[in-house]
Amino acid sequence: MLNLDSNNASAKPINCPICRTTGTYLFSKYDCSILYCQKCSHQFADIIPNNHHTQTVYGDHYFNSGGDGYPDYLGEAKLILDHGKRYAQLLKRYMDTGTILDVGAAAGFILQGFTQSGWQGKGIEPNAEMVNHDCKSLGLSVEVGSLETISTSDRYDLISMIQVMPHFFDLRQALSNAANITKPNGYWLIETWNRDSLTAKICGQHWHEYSPPSVLHWFSPNDLEQLATQFGFYKVICGRPSKWINGAHIKSLLRYKLERSRLGRLVINILSIIPDNLAIPYPAEDLFWILFQKAEAA
Ligand SMILES: [Zn+2]
Repeated sequence: MLNLDSNNASAKPINCPICRTTGTYLFSKYDCSILYCQKCSHQFADIIPNNHHTQTVYGDHYFNSGGDGYPDYLGEAKLILDHGKRYAQLLKRYMDTGTILDVGAAAGFILQGFTQSGWQGKGIEPNAEMVNHDCKSLGLSVEVGSLETISTSDRYDLISMIQVMPHFFDLRQALSNAANITKPNGYWLIETWNRDSLTAKICGQHWHEYSPPSVLHWFSPNDLEQLATQFGFYKVICGRPSKWINGAHIKSLLRYKLERSRLGRLVINILSIIPDNLAIPYPAEDLFWILFQKAEAA
C-alpha cells in the first residue's frame, strides 16, 4: 500500500470502496499498486491519500503542465463550455431545468454551459487558481472546496460530476455528501472512464487512465451503478458522450504516452503540425455517462 503520509509497503491491501472486499494485486504503475475486487470487479489504487492529496495532485501543474493533466485548460474553454451545453440539452428529455452543483468545476466552463441553458447553480473546485481565474467575471459562483468536505444547507436538483469520480480521495464520503445535498427525486449526472471499454482492454496497462496518484478509481458502468444504488440512486439512462479537445491537448497526451519509444517520438514529430487551437473530436469509446435519480425515500 502506498500511504501518501508514510510509505508502508508491508501493510495489507486496502478494501474495495464499493463492496469492502480486500483488494487483489493487479499490476503496478508509477510506483503504485493497482488492485481489483474479486467480488464486484472494481479497480482502485492501493493508496491512502492524506489531507493534502487534492492540493498536491490538482495543483496548478494539473491544469497547465500536460502529462496526464491538461497542457492549457483555459485554452479549451469553448470546448468545455459546449460540453456543458450538450449535457444541458440532453437532460431536457428527463428533467426540468433547476439548480445544479457542478463538482470539480475548475474555471466554471461546464457550469457556464448549464447556466447559459437556463440552470442556476454553483461549482466547487479544489484548485484556488482555477476558481479565481474568471468565475466572477463570467457571473459564476464557484467556491474552493471538495465534495468530501463540503458543508452546506443548500439542496440541488442536479449534482454533476463530469470526470471527477476517479479522483475522489474518499469516494464514499464524497457520494454520501452528494446524496445529502440532492433534493428528493433529484439527479446525479456522472461522466467517467470505462475500464471495460475496448480501448482500455486493447491498451491494457498502457491505457491512459492508469495514471495514479491523480486517478484513484477505475469504473465500469456496472460497478458505478452498484455504488450509486448504495446511496439510494437508481440508473435512469446511460450513454457515451461526444467529446472535443484541442490540438495542444492531444499533442501533450501523445508526448506523455509515446516519447519513451523511437516510433513514438516519430509519431509525435509527424503530428506536431497539428495547430494548437484546432478542435479535434476525441474518439470517446472509453468514456461513458450515467444519469441517476434519487429514490423518493432516500
Ligand atoms: Zn468490490
